[in-house]
Order: sequence, then structure tokens, then C-alpha cells
Amino acid sequence: MPFSKLGLSNPLVQATKELGYTTPTAIQKQAIPIILSGKDLIATAQTGTGKTAAFVLPILERFKKTGTLRGKRIRALILVPTRELAVQVEASIAQYSKHLKLSSMAVYGGVDSEPQKQRLIEGIDILVATPGRLLDLAHQRALHFDELEVLVLDEADRMVDMGFVGDINKIIDRLPSDRQNLLFSATMTDDVHALAYGFSDDKMSKPA
Ligand code: AMP
Repeated sequence: MPFSKLGLSNPLVQATKELGYTTPTAIQKQAIPIILSGKDLIATAQTGTGKTAAFVLPILERFKKTGTLRGKRIRALILVPTRELAVQVEASIAQYSKHLKLSSMAVYGGVDSEPQKQRLIEGIDILVATPGRLLDLAHQRALHFDELEVLVLDEADRMVDMGFVGDINKIIDRLPSDRQNLLFSATMTDDVHALAYGFSDDKMSKPA
């Protein structure tokens, strides 16, 4: 089954072709149609299965028509446990969105926050962040979530293990309640379930 059969349009199918992807992976086949339908999703997926494209491609499809001209507000927030993953996910977004007019950025701790604040002022569609730095920037009023449409928790089990549940809940409190929630985790523990059911009003969809 090609990427075009999953409901993705040309600029995205073209980007996957240029990266040498011939067929979607199992998680991509299962998750992309659900995410495109606008439903919440909780998915078990290990690193290396193509899970990043599984959530990034449908988010890009959703945003494709409007681009940054619509406003200078964050429309998707992707929370990740580490700086390394933040950089990697943002690099993937840049690759998949090369034929679209969308902007993305990664923010993480351990570096000066001033350059991050400057870029945020210019306007970012998709923000990838570690929870601690995200909260810091929110406290400094550098972030506006009033147009946020999608929240992704990536590697949720690692974020739980690293003690980020409190920060994640504080972040969720700042987001509009009418949004799409996506959660990816290598393992599905009780703590991860609690996080998932706490952040979603919907009955979450699980890929078959
Ligand atoms: P991830 O699980 O998101 O960390 O992705 C693992 C690797 O698989 C990355 O290097 C991706 O570029 C690659 N990848 C993702 N989707 C596909 C696909 N459909 N076909 C081939 N490679 C892919």
C-alpha cells in the first residue's frame, strides 16, 4: 500500500518518496488514517518503527492548507523526554514539510532561552519541546496556546520515568480543551494510561 492511499496529499507523498520510503510501516498504516480523522489516539510503538512520521505526516496534512500566514500561534505541540529526541523530531518535521510553508522549532533546556524566545516571536506552527523548558518559556509569557489544535506526547513512558508527569499536567492546563490528543509509548504502563486518560475527554482510539 503506497502513502497516497493513506489520505496524504502530493507534497507529503513526494517528501516520503524523496526520502526513499516505498511503503508505510505498520504503525503508519494504522495511525495515519485515525489521526487524519481527527480522533484522539494512544499507540504502543518502539523507536525505529517509523512512529515519528506516523504522527508528523497527518499533522502536516491537517495544517497544509493554511500555513503560517494564518497567525503566529503554535498549532501543534509535541512533548518529548530529551533534548536529543527534540532535535531529531524537529529534523524529521523539517524533512517531511519541505514542500509546505510551515515552520517548526525545537526548544529544550541546557541552552540560553533568549534565542528560542526570539524565534517564537517570529511565529512557529509546530513546536517540539521538553517539558521543563516549555514551562519556563510559558512562565516568561513567550508562548501562546490559544490556537493550539494538536498535542502529542512522544515516548510517554520515558517522560513518566523521568518524573515529568507534574510538568505535563501543568502544560495541559494551559492548552485549549478542544484539541486532538496523540500519545505514543514503547510500553503501556498504568502510569502511562493514567496520563492518557487524564488528558483526553474522548474515548481514545487504539489501532487494531
Ligand atoms: P522512528 O521510529 O520515527 O524513529 O523512525 C525510524 C527510522 O525509520 C527513521 O530514520 C525514518 O527516517 C525511517 N522511516 C520512517 N518511515 C519509513 C518508511 N515508511 N519507510 C522507510 N523508512 C522509514
